[in-house]
Amino acid sequence: MAPVPPIGQYAVAMTLLKIARMGHPVLRQTAEPVTDPTDPEIRRLAADMVETMHDAPGIGLAGPQVHVLLRIIVFRVPAERATGAAGDEPEGDRVLINPVVEPLGEERVPGWEGCLSIPGIRGEVGRWARIRYRGVDLDGAPVAREASGTHARVIQHEVDHLDGVLYLDRMDDLRRLSFVEELRFLAGPPQKR
Ligand code: ZN
Repeated sequence: MAPVPPIGQYAVAMTLLKIARMGHPVLRQTAEPVTDPTDPEIRRLAADMVETMHDAPGIGLAGPQVHVLLRIIVFRVPAERATGAAGDEPEGDRVLINPVVEPLGEERVPGWEGCLSIPGIRGEVGRWARIRYRGVDLDGAPVAREASGTHARVIQHEVDHLDGVLYLDRMDDLRRLSFVEELRFLAGPPQKR
């Protein structure tokens, strides 16, 4: 089960992309599968998405968030966000094309999430604790991994974007929604995302 190769190995010029914010209809549309993951335009898009994710800064970004209705996500798991448990080790920049997620087991866990399309806000969302996900990388090679913790959460969050779903839609209790500056009242010190 090869991990997605880090985007950093591909030397291409990069551009910051405009991030769609909540309310823009592109965030509510369903993205189309990528027909040729090896297309140089896809590689360029992925590189630009990684650059945009870091610039924001964030730990994940999906095609529709940059006005591209294709099933492509980029993500990372910074060391300070990884629990170190199996499936939740730190991850460098990753690109995943045409991802599919399935839960492993029944367990769901609450956790605080932010979204680059909903700046300044955090919400507590229940997600599958452990997942298996599949997709292809930029060489068209299959990817199949298991994830937990932050890794599992970011994958579920980003794949939702491909189906026009925002984390707010997944919240059971909107009282668990907060501006970052007030999050200490609900969840202790604010988390960066
Ligand atoms: Zn998001």
